Amino acid sequence: MTDAADWRFDTAQVHAGARPDPTTHARATPIYATTSFTYDSADAAAASFLLDDLENYAYSRMSNPTTTVVEQRIARLEGGVAAVATASGQAATALALLNILRTGDHVIVSNQVYGGTTNLLLRRFAELGIATSLVSEINDPEAWRALVRPETRVFFAESIGNPTGAVLDIRAIADVAHQAGVPLIIDNTLATPYLLRPLEHGADIVVHSTTKFLAGHGTAIGGIIVDGATFDFGAEPEKWPGLHVPDVGHGDVGYWERFSPLGLAYALRLRTTVLRDYGPAPSPFNSFLLIQGLETLSLRIRQHVANARAVVAHLDAHPQVTRVHYASHPDAPWADVAARYLPEGGGAIVSFEIAGGFAAGAAFVDALELFSHLANIGDVRSLVIHPASTTNSGLSEEQRAAASVDPSLVRLSIGIEDPRDLIADLDQALRAVAHLA
Ligand SMILES: *Cc1c(COP(=O)(O)O)cnc(C)c1O
Repeated sequence: MTDAADWRFDTAQVHAGARPDPTTHARATPIYATTSFTYDSADAAAASFLLDDLENYAYSRMSNPTTTVVEQRIARLEGGVAAVATASGQAATALALLNILRTGDHVIVSNQVYGGTTNLLLRRFAELGIATSLVSEINDPEAWRALVRPETRVFFAESIGNPTGAVLDIRAIADVAHQAGVPLIIDNTLATPYLLRPLEHGADIVVHSTTKFLAGHGTAIGGIIVDGATFDFGAEPEKWPGLHVPDVGHGDVGYWERFSPLGLAYALRLRTTVLRDYGPAPSPFNSFLLIQGLETLSLRIRQHVANARAVVAHLDAHPQVTRVHYASHPDAPWADVAARYLPEGGGAIVSFEIAGGFAAGAAFVDALELFSHLANIGDVRSLVIHPASTTNSGLSEEQRAAASVDPSLVRLSIGIEDPRDLIADLDQALRAVAHLA
């Protein structure tokens, strides 16, 4: 038997965090459909509340054995120290930030991020008195540095941006964040840890919407936060009161003093205060579904990437297609960055512009038959959406242009079907809109 610490990716995605059930010997991870767990004694209950006992379970809003398998497995795949699963990707982003932010603080975020992240920061966090600045030249370290203020507490970006696939130079931006004394959080949803592990390149914390490729079947909403335990929240304690001021009921010292020697300060505070108090815990049933998906992650991603490459090559050569965006497209402005960070390929999100503008983009989506028209990505099925009329319709013309969303842009999430069938469907839909060009 090899040591679990040495397992390669394809082995860890099947085994990490799981073992046969100790009471029933069930081989697959059971769904622990229970809200609560009994204490052995009054002393054990008190120890649990004081965080002296981190092994036993108490209440499924904080932790659950099915969900623990998800957390340990994804932490292992990302190369992190600890992970906390949440009810959605939105909850993962919100909690990852709320664990270190408070009113008066400031966030710097790439403008090439998921629309839900922009809404969260520019609308909801603004209501809480947390300010946000958007960076458009995302791979220019000076563009990030120029926005740093005394109140800046975090940098946030996606490893592969949405919807045009801009690849972040994680190392360069992490260096600026660290010079500014703040952590870099990366949303790694589009890349998955199979293609890119941000913690290896200087990022401090990773978030995911597990709804997408990690689960893969389009059956369960979920999210996760993985901490690399690399950021030194002890260097300027006054910037992080949540990690340094003792929390009522959790003993007399702050999380940093007590748990940073174990690398658990950020993750444990997240679980036992932010997740506990705001409450977006995952259901153990959804964690079970996610485990089924994780077991085949690398196999699916290899097929997603092969199919995406075939579709990109076909669209590149098509006369009605004016421009193709893909993370590892050789003509992309970030091609040298992608070559360094994504040697195995740029994932499954392909977007392209069609001759004929907004009307052609919308009509093309209507003409597709095999692709499902919906707002999700990362399913085994191929999916399509027209961002200008849907996901990005809340943005102004100017914001859409800044995020490189052309009115004709069509976003594809390439599934794992036979690529010849996907290309045939794309071709018949392009024929159907040829008269609009
Ligand atoms: C979908 C998505 C989210 C939000 O996740 P939900 O699971 O839908 O809440 C966040 N970031 C990215 C990049 C996404 O694609």
